[in-house]
Amino acid sequence: MPTIFTKIINREIPADIVYEDDKALAFRDINSQAPTHVLVIPKKEIASLSELEDGDAELMGHLFVVVRKVAEDLELDNGYRTVINCGSDGGQTVDHIHIHLLGGRSLSWPPG
Ligand code: 5GP
Repeated sequence: MPTIFTKIINREIPADIVYEDDKALAFRDINSQAPTHVLVIPKKEIASLSELEDGDAELMGHLFVVVRKVAEDLELDNGYRTVINCGSDGGQTVDHIHIHLLGGRSLSWPPG
């Protein structure tokens, strides 16, 4: 099912895009939880981690390479955190798989 992220991919709604290639898009989260909060998504519509198939392995690896590139571009030299929320208990609110990239401040652990 298309979500709001598909509209961002298709430029039907605006977003602050920080990276794009043929398979992935990265844009700033509208409700930032850190000085830098970017969402890295595949252009392929995959609802969540629980919907991943064997054939998605290379794509998911690619997304993490994109995380590294964006983190470098945005100068997150002190480190950062990646989060993938899955399902309602995981706190997922948009059913298009996405990696949160959070940085620019010290992040506490464990999460709530
Ligand atoms: P989730 O809770 O599913 O892990 O994360 C979804 C994220 O998408 C949230 O952090 C939320 O702020 C962000 N988000 C939801 N709608 C939009 C939107 O229209 N634009 C942007 N840039 N981020 C959005």
